[in-house]
Amino acid sequence: MAVVKADAYGHGLQSVARALSGRVEAFGVACLEEALELREADIADPVVLLEGVFDARELPELVRHRLQAVIHQPSQWQSLKTFRPSTAIPVWLKLDTGMHRLGLSPEQLGSLYAEMSAHPSVRVEGFMSHLANADDSNDQFTRYQLADFRDHCGEFGLPLSLANSAAICAWPDTHLDWVRPGLMLYGASPLAGRNAAQLGLRPVMRLVSELMAVRQLAVGDPVGYGGSWVCPEAMPVGIVACGYGDGYPRHAVNGTSVSVGGQRVPLVGRVSMDMLAVDLRQCPHAVPGTPVELWGLEPEVNTVATQAGTVGYELLCAVSARVPRQVHGA
Ligand SMILES: *Cc1c(COP(=O)(O)O)cnc(C)c1O
Repeated sequence: MAVVKADAYGHGLQSVARALSGRVEAFGVACLEEALELREADIADPVVLLEGVFDARELPELVRHRLQAVIHQPSQWQSLKTFRPSTAIPVWLKLDTGMHRLGLSPEQLGSLYAEMSAHPSVRVEGFMSHLANADDSNDQFTRYQLADFRDHCGEFGLPLSLANSAAICAWPDTHLDWVRPGLMLYGASPLAGRNAAQLGLRPVMRLVSELMAVRQLAVGDPVGYGGSWVCPEAMPVGIVACGYGDGYPRHAVNGTSVSVGGQRVPLVGRVSMDMLAVDLRQCPHAVPGTPVELWGLEPEVNTVATQAGTVGYELLCAVSARVPRQVHGA
């Protein structure tokens, strides 16, 4: 099940879905709006609403567009029963195995399943749960969650689904019947200690720009808002046409890697809305127009994210609408 929520992690839902359609068993999305966008693009593959319906008014759309829904709380089943769909709605029951975000208790799951398996409004496709700590390959909580999931859902003989990207890479026992990759589909590493290349992943998104100016500054010259960075010597500083208004993280610290003309150079000073500055001492031939890669092949999105106190997921999702998209190979 290819997870394409949040505009396919910022990559463009419709283009990603067109590229994957027919090569995956289903798509996973967070809400009805995303599912409808898939149907508008004539994507006919099964689509699962990973959080189910938020409101009973969404139920007619499930039937009209042949969508599957997760049921993570009893009230979702109540509204489905009351709605009485013309054809059975395919559903997945979600067990809370310890993440304590969404999911049914084992008792709720047992009684809902008993009721549903004899009810014409639904067809139970399978069971799922979500792992909290799978990105740490030493964390025993994953083993505990897997055992709990098997104990409570294994007995029904229906498909089981537990693994996100981190579990796919680090916890083979969790693969079960359906895996649900998100981040790794986009070529970013889901594991803390491993980069994309080590996992055989290739980044899909490259955030690129170019140098808009190259300044020769003097020792002691401050750069950017607040003058938080000061030139330690006479040196060239490049100004890149990309800032937090484009989705580059404002909290990226001095020294964060930026690739200028294929050479890694450090970010200096505060990131502004429309631009950021880089130290060009290692890149003396750079001129206005020299291509710049903010993340993609080099540096990896996770490297930038770490330097900004966040995760690659957030950066990929946050590229703003004003950044022109070019889609290759779709
Ligand atoms: C987002 C999501 C995934 C995918 O997670 P990744 O860490 O991006 O692989 C899988 N399952 C559910 C229920 C999700 O919400």
